[in-house]
Amino acid sequence: MLSGVDHDVPDGIGMARLAWTRLPTADGEGAGPSTSEAADDELLSGAAIESLDYEVIENYAYREEQAQRSKFWVPYYVMLKWLFALLIGVGTGLAAIFINLAVENFSGWKYTATFAIIKHSYFVGFFVYTVFNLALVFSSVYIVTNFAPAAAGSGIPEIKGYLNGVDTHGILLFRTLVGKIFGSIGSVGGGLALGKEGPLVHTGACIASLLGQGGSAKYHLSSRWVRIFESDRDRRDLVTCGCAAGVAAAFRAPVGGVLFALEEVTSWWRSHLMWRVFFTSAVVAVVVRSAMNWCNSGKCGHFGAGGFIIWDISGGQEDYSYQELFPMAIIGVIGGLLGALFNQLTLYITKWRRTCLHKKGKRVQIFEACLISLVTSTISFVLPLLRKCSPCPKLETNSGIECPHPPGTDGNFVNFYCSQDREYNDLATIFFNTQDDAIRNLFSAKTFHEYSAQSLITFLVMFYFLAVVTFGTAVPAGQFVPGIMIGSTYGRLVGMFVVKFYKKLNIEEGTYALLGAASFLGGSMRMTVSLCVIMVEITNNLKLLPLIMLVLLVSKAVGDFFNEGLYEEQARLRGIPLLDSRPKQVMRNMNARDACKNQKVVCLPRVSRVVDIISVLRTNKHNGFPVVDRGQNGESLVIGLILRSHLLVLLQAKVDFQNSAFPCGPGVLNRHNFSDFVKPASSKGKSIDDIHLTEDELGLYLDLAPFLNPSPYIVPEDMSLAKVYNLFRQLGLRHIFVVPRPSRVVGLITRKDLLLEEDNNNVMPELQSTSV
Ligand code: ATP
Ligand code: MG
Repeated sequence: MLSGVDHDVPDGIGMARLAWTRLPTADGEGAGPSTSEAADDELLSGAAIESLDYEVIENYAYREEQAQRSKFWVPYYVMLKWLFALLIGVGTGLAAIFINLAVENFSGWKYTATFAIIKHSYFVGFFVYTVFNLALVFSSVYIVTNFAPAAAGSGIPEIKGYLNGVDTHGILLFRTLVGKIFGSIGSVGGGLALGKEGPLVHTGACIASLLGQGGSAKYHLSSRWVRIFESDRDRRDLVTCGCAAGVAAAFRAPVGGVLFALEEVTSWWRSHLMWRVFFTSAVVAVVVRSAMNWCNSGKCGHFGAGGFIIWDISGGQEDYSYQELFPMAIIGVIGGLLGALFNQLTLYITKWRRTCLHKKGKRVQIFEACLISLVTSTISFVLPLLRKCSPCPKLETNSGIECPHPPGTDGNFVNFYCSQDREYNDLATIFFNTQDDAIRNLFSAKTFHEYSAQSLITFLVMFYFLAVVTFGTAVPAGQFVPGIMIGSTYGRLVGMFVVKFYKKLNIEEGTYALLGAASFLGGSMRMTVSLCVIMVEITNNLKLLPLIMLVLLVSKAVGDFFNEGLYEEQARLRGIPLLDSRPKQVMRNMNARDACKNQKVVCLPRVSRVVDIISVLRTNKHNGFPVVDRGQNGESLVIGLILRSHLLVLLQAKVDFQNSAFPCGPGVLNRHNFSDFVKPASSKGKSIDDIHLTEDELGLYLDLAPFLNPSPYIVPEDMSLAKVYNLFRQLGLRHIFVVPRPSRVVGLITRKDLLLEEDNNNVMPELQSTSV
């Protein structure tokens, strides 16, 4: 039934020998790029992207391993999954605490020193502030460029790609995790216009993936007994838990974390996964809470109540009138417009950076980040100097607001370049302060009119500019915090206007700042449900829920009118081929044959000469090859699909080579475990250049039958491409064979045929493992 595919099997050793002369020499010359410079180039060019194998390859080794499993295997597997969910939660929570602790302390020391010095000289204070920032940013960009290029940026587009079925080399490695953690400390502590939340999602994903593969083999930190989740399919679930844990840790928003994973990053979701992700997020919440309680007693230096984005505006506006809905919808429109503009500008700048600037090497990247640090420090120090101070607002006695308060500690009104003690500088309060304190100040609902419109507009324009310029530098960077700062500024501006306009209503500018933040994030990232829940969780004010929903819906609709969401745009720019959940309209009028028109299928015979396999691998970049055999009547039959990575494992192991050109049968099997064929997450895997064979070995044969996937997915050539797309996307496939109309049907399966008896022995092992 499968005959009819054009076979193009190179049959002469001459061609293969020709290719063989290009093999690397023993000293490793030509053994492929391995330096981090090469890794950089690879990341920039998009060549480091490869599909994942979510499909279970039911080859003999797999079947044998399934057959050998004891009856305790499934409970052990389930228990380990839950244990890993727990460990991911604990690990991500601890990483978040470490990052926050370091950032808060570095910022605290920076501001304490600067404030002590500016009492004597503003110039020296500026110098110290700038050098402190520069040192931190330099450390961050140095780590990223020299040690972990994949740690640059937020990592969310790459993780989104991973969960969609494409792996970007390097994103889940141990060194990326280390680079991400220490790089975020430098970039956030160094006062750049970026946040640590996106990097925390990536950190959670790295922790999950590393746990899944039992540690890092390269750094001898691996343990075999937990290496049960090595397949891409299992790792996908763990990485999903890691993403949710990252958001839960960043915002102390466990439900928001689960919804973020569901709405934004994953492409496949199951109810079983929901439970585990929920559990992981809950664990994170407990870990973070315990650490915060411990630190509140002053054991963590400057890291006390602050650090995580939590602000409590429960003392603020608890009700709203219908007249306010219009200005709130306006906030949504502004959020959509500014968010879409942000996406577009960052797209242009990132494109330019990748094609012109970053290709020039590490030094340019380091210089660029340092220059941006200098500009950021100068703007944030000099602009507040130009503002006049205002007297501290009269506060209720137990309002909790102190004025003035040194920044970097509990962050309230900042006395900067003021002649009196009981004065504050409104621009310094948001610009010359740690991000979390600045956000707390912008959201402050305790007093009215803390900020002049002039200061807010200055901050909005400058910070927007800085956020756009900083995006895409070679440091770990999240866009949540810049988004919240930008949004809350214009939200507050609208709030001030509304207060003036509707004098009699009980309106809090802080509430408008919160809505502004939600609208900008909605307009840029285009998330709705998860953002809404995150906002509610971090503000503790459920009454604002309908308002947040309103601005998010408006801002998303306006943003969608102009362009795609930030992460989708960035993924596309990085060459990550994301598959949307729905096929394009035009696919309805095309069929499977149209998608592979003019394709000459490269196949391998069941028993192939080693030299021919090498030749095929060298002359083609394809990652999968149909394997053909002769039927009883001499006709050609496709017996399965073999992956390039599996062929490379076999060629390197050499143990399966045989002298005979005839099939050997399944007697070879004990030579390989299923795990031999699994490659570590986001590593480059083996390359044909790693294979070194002698002339004698080249003349031997290899029977591919035991190692191929005997049941790849097959579609008839006239199936509509939209249908093929849905099949491919929903099953997470990597290859589909397109065949002519079958001549015969051997059976037909309906729903009832799949309802097997509830007898465990009858349930197929794969069904067991995927149902847990
Ligand atoms: P992956 O990430 O798995 O490499 P890909 O989309 O890059 O995914 P490739 O295997 O690199 O897939 O193939 C690239 C192109 O070559 C596709 O258009 C595909 O249809 C075609 N192709 C893949 N395998 C073969 C093959 N064995 N013979 C002929 N064409 C193939
Ligand atoms: Mg490819």
